[in-house]
Amino acid sequence: MPTIKRDYYEVLSVSRGVGEQELKSSYRKLALQYHPDRNPDDAEAEEKFKEAAEAYGVLSDAQKRAAYDAYGHAGLSGAGGGAGFDPSNMDLGDLLSQVFGFGDMFGGGGQRGGRPRATKGDDLRYDLSLTFEEAAFGKAVELQVPKMEPCGRCRGRGAEPDSSLMQCPACHGRGEQLFSQGFLSVRRTCSHCGGAGEIVKQVCRDCRGEGYKHVNKRLKVTVPAGIANGNRLRVASEGQPGTNGGPNGDLYIFFTVKEHPVFERHENDLHCRVPINISQAALGAQIQVPTLEGPHDLVIPEGTQNGTQLKIRGKGVPEVQGKGRGDLIVHIDVRTPTKLTRDQRRLFEELKAVLPVDNDAHEKGLLDKVKDYFN
Ligand SMILES: [Zn+2]
Ligand SMILES: [Zn+2]
Repeated sequence: MPTIKRDYYEVLSVSRGVGEQELKSSYRKLALQYHPDRNPDDAEAEEKFKEAAEAYGVLSDAQKRAAYDAYGHAGLSGAGGGAGFDPSNMDLGDLLSQVFGFGDMFGGGGQRGGRPRATKGDDLRYDLSLTFEEAAFGKAVELQVPKMEPCGRCRGRGAEPDSSLMQCPACHGRGEQLFSQGFLSVRRTCSHCGGAGEIVKQVCRDCRGEGYKHVNKRLKVTVPAGIANGNRLRVASEGQPGTNGGPNGDLYIFFTVKEHPVFERHENDLHCRVPINISQAALGAQIQVPTLEGPHDLVIPEGTQNGTQLKIRGKGVPEVQGKGRGDLIVHIDVRTPTKLTRDQRRLFEELKAVLPVDNDAHEKGLLDKVKDYFN
């Protein structure tokens, strides 16, 4: 692409006979001034930054500089003469690291840059099954959570204790590489060192250089009262460890609550079905009904109908967040006897003789309707 290029010496504000040191310091000054990190969304600065890098890339290379001195920009074209000098072939990260020490440019003032980024560890999921009672009243449990922990032998460095770290040769300690695409420079985490900027000379024999060990961590957790099926509990900082000083992830416990043979739970209320016989229903009675905490006395009023619901306050499930408790709803199931002894039969016959067939107008109407239907 034929564009009018500025003279490289002019770009770097140096004389033709400039020495290596002066060239370097001049480029360093411009790179700092126009670095994209310091000029976000400034296309002109970006261009100046690229231009300086290109100029320095040529003039710092003895062979290219000689060709440029003799023939100008044309001297840098390919053999065919048409390709031109392509700045995207230059390793900008390499150029920058020639003039800046590690951390020199990016380290201060919280600049985004080559320092390995502190990252929060991953969250973990642990599935825990509870009995109905455990969910209702809470429980102290000890979990064994498979997770990673920093290796004790190398303290997470991944290196043998007496082995030193060396600067990553791929990124020169920067932890990331700068790729040029047209006028944009794109940063990528260095694939060789994973962004750390350093690699170990001798990997830790316990963790094989991972820096982490897979452990089953024992963890004591108090499951609060009132947990329902599908609830989850967050245990802060018990997930995977963070990297580069980042915080740990969290642990989430997902609860499955087993069904109860007697009780059904709706919100914080419990429901159960209690059978009584016809005479208890008619005369009233005092019976014992089950609760989660054992038998409870309940008065059945005289004349109780089948399906009547009787409420026992405060015998449901506690609210998870502490205050209050649901109720126990007793569904009365009036059972008609199916096998009668001779005495029972005689008594029912007597009852039949004295009980009215239809004791209110509404039921009379109902019986008439049934008769009409069969006629
Ligand atoms: Zn280790
Ligand atoms: Zn690297």
